[in-house]
Amino acid sequence: MQYDTMPNFLKKRAFLTPDRTAVFFNEMAITFKELYEGSYQTAGKLQRFGLQKDQYVGVLLKNHIDSVVILFSLQLLGVKAVILNNRLSSKELVWQVNDSRVTALIMEAEFTEIKQEIKIPVITKDQLFATTPEVPVIQEEINLADVCTIMYTSGTTGNPKGVLQTYGNHWWSAVGSALNLGYMESDRWLCTVPLFHISGFSILMRSVIYGMTIILHENFDAEKAITDIKTKEVTIMSVVGTMLSRIVDTLKDSQLPIQFRCFLLGGGPAPLPLLEACLAKNLPVFQSYGMTETASQIVTLAPEYSITRLGSAGKPLLPSQLKILLEDGEIAPPNVAGEIVVKGPNVTMGYLYRPDITSEKLNEGWLRTGDIGYLDEEGFLYVLDRRSDLIISGGENIYPAEIESVLLAHPDVADAGVTGIQDETWGQVPVAFIVRKEGALVTEPQLKQFCLENLAKYKLPKSVHFTDSLPRNAAKKLLRRKLGEWVNEGRVNE
Ligand code: ATP
Ligand code: MG
Repeated sequence: MQYDTMPNFLKKRAFLTPDRTAVFFNEMAITFKELYEGSYQTAGKLQRFGLQKDQYVGVLLKNHIDSVVILFSLQLLGVKAVILNNRLSSKELVWQVNDSRVTALIMEAEFTEIKQEIKIPVITKDQLFATTPEVPVIQEEINLADVCTIMYTSGTTGNPKGVLQTYGNHWWSAVGSALNLGYMESDRWLCTVPLFHISGFSILMRSVIYGMTIILHENFDAEKAITDIKTKEVTIMSVVGTMLSRIVDTLKDSQLPIQFRCFLLGGGPAPLPLLEACLAKNLPVFQSYGMTETASQIVTLAPEYSITRLGSAGKPLLPSQLKILLEDGEIAPPNVAGEIVVKGPNVTMGYLYRPDITSEKLNEGWLRTGDIGYLDEEGFLYVLDRRSDLIISGGENIYPAEIESVLLAHPDVADAGVTGIQDETWGQVPVAFIVRKEGALVTEPQLKQFCLENLAKYKLPKSVHFTDSLPRNAAKKLLRRKLGEWVNEGRVNE
């Protein structure tokens, strides 16, 4: 069907606005024409290594301008890129390489450990760039239903799952975002989040779809981000909560330039105190909710509600839908919590080689997210927590994220994690694990008192335990199931 096809995004973009800057990286800048030419050459080199349309090929790369070129060269060839997280341990990477059955792996030479542990052909970036190119067979047209990328979920609730992301998913994600945030020709998006994560990759796709300049950093550094916002006329920056709080701390009393439109905040719960600190400093923050399965944000708070609905993730973007389901499958009335279920052209069609999980999670296009939340009377979404982390105490639902957010607001607390333990009287009760700020001496009774001042009594952690660090995955997400293991290992005295 002709309605399902579009011209190759990058090729068309290079035709439309060839001289516009596509990417700034360190002191380098390349135009869309140069990005296309570089990707075309690289496609010819990859073809010499035997890569061709419809193969699954792994990529293990860092945030670098070369990675942008490689990722687009794979799209030119119609190769499906399995984009791997370079912060994973080599054991985790081997698992994903095997699970995805990729035919080859394109990687930075420095990731040597994994090279010795996998049996498929490895193409290092240096080998690739040193090769003489063939004339590549370019996919002039893309089918929106074709898989463009596979990205594994962060593995917060269990083993990561390979999510199929089609060209259509990326297209509609970019369109939905523009219809909410607007797109201006002066827009420049700062990308310090990883390209291997949907938060970063979606910025690349928006860049070619909108014709927008991106400023790419190797990693997040608050000082460098602020400098570039000021000197490179950045208008939007994607952040997760920890990045935003470092920016707030680093900025102190200084202001961001007037052209800066917003921080797009996603990836996890946004602690209310952080949002309030941003409000007090006049920093524009748009909260959003999304996941690997929705090709980035699916719900975002529209600009005009960023103050009146502080703490809400917003409404579903124009192309998408959302409902809250109760345990019995009925739709929840306003202000009643249930599972968040989403649908839209940006939502995945399933998990790689996992028809079991696909049919469990997807029903007629509706995806069960595994997250709990509620809608207010006007349809604004409030995300509470993950279903698997819910604590049920004396029949009351307790969301660990709410308690963590209160604990994190204490000036002596650097990090906080909450999980439930078995309790004879209540069934389950929350316990907290705390990393104190350097030199801070806050005690268990003091933290309990602080919780009492800010939370209903039944949410008070039964005990507070101090530790040097909390278990987090490669995406820096808190692994509450590991906290549960700590409890079982006796690190909590009942
Ligand atoms: P896995 O699916 O393997 O357990 P994961 O869900 O952490 O890992 P991602 O797709 O990277 O993998 O993360 C998406 C999840 O992040 C969402 O399902 C949700 O739990 C959480 N999240 C995203 N945005 C928000 C938000 N605004 N508020 C609360 N949680 C959020
Ligand atoms: Mg998930």
